[in-house]
Amino acid sequence: MPALSLKYSSGLKCKGWDVATVMKEIRRFGLSRFPTPLEPMLQLSKKLGGPEIWVKRDDLTSLAMGGNKTRKLEYLVADALSCGADTLITAGSIQSNHCRQTAAAAVRANMGCHLVLSGEPPADGGVQGNHLIDLIMGASLHWTDRNSRDAMMLTITEECRSQGLKPYIIPVGGSNGVGALGYVNALKELNVQSEQLEINFDRIVFASSSGGTQAGLQLGAELTGFSGRITGISVDQDKLQADSFTSHMAKIAGEAATILGVDSRINPGSFELNTNYIGSGYAVMGELERRAIHLAARTEALLVGPVYTARALGGLIDLVEKSVLLSKERILFWHTGDTPTIFAYAKELA
Ligand SMILES: *Cc1c(COP(=O)(O)O)cnc(C)c1O
Repeated sequence: MPALSLKYSSGLKCKGWDVATVMKEIRRFGLSRFPTPLEPMLQLSKKLGGPEIWVKRDDLTSLAMGGNKTRKLEYLVADALSCGADTLITAGSIQSNHCRQTAAAAVRANMGCHLVLSGEPPADGGVQGNHLIDLIMGASLHWTDRNSRDAMMLTITEECRSQGLKPYIIPVGGSNGVGALGYVNALKELNVQSEQLEINFDRIVFASSSGGTQAGLQLGAELTGFSGRITGISVDQDKLQADSFTSHMAKIAGEAATILGVDSRINPGSFELNTNYIGSGYAVMGELERRAIHLAARTEALLVGPVYTARALGGLIDLVEKSVLLSKERILFWHTGDTPTIFAYAKELA
């Protein structure tokens, strides 16, 4: 396994942290071309009449229709392989982007893949979006209720072992210290692109759910001296769950810092999480999401997905309209993927 090749180590002027020496030691299994594009959204910005809005296209990672889990999986798969594993096991919802990208990563790494999906397989003809791609990728699917997913992953692990296989469990969303390294790296990637374009972002806005993305970005910001605000739009955690969620993210960031061998001052209070846009709950598309999907498509030809990215962009649009985000600011919408899901919501979107 080659060590992480830091294509962007040259020319990167990180403050106080020598990226090249620290990250070079950590193994990464290449699953995509990087950097992902960074683009201005001129027509959307103009339409909203507020700040200049840009988009970081992590929906375009080059792994089976893309998304933010690709960056996490590069580190998770490398870790699995270095443990001698031959089978990946993970869990998620029926339209999980994480499960779809894990199934694809397993193919690329020549590993087996078991996915534990919550709920039941849809009735005749209902196979769509990520679920369809899971099947096409050849993953083995197991169905259970949401609260039994971890137990089922353990059962499958035992079954694999009894067959002489070497399973590796990836937590829901790939959100642990290893996975979060992908977004520490992503923040550095953004710094390089920003420097090349000679621009700065006042704030990054994105969808936050299992916490690895936000934990990685926050740690990356701390380590590289990124000065903008990092605002996670909660996809499913409500106000009452916010404290336990930010504690969870602080734990993930701490694990990542330990792997990197760096000190971090990140604590639960370091995270900015907006819980105002969870609407009727996880995976329930409402007017906020529908409007964001249509607006992004009709101003930028940009597709956002009903579960995550339309909720985050809908929140961003609302914050512009309420003048929380100001015209003098430059905002980055970090597109985390979720586009295959639009096909599963055809009835609501057509
Ligand atoms: C998983 C996911 C997120 C949330 O990322 P976390 O690291 O789980 O918080 C956001 N957007 C999309 C499209 C996702 O699939």
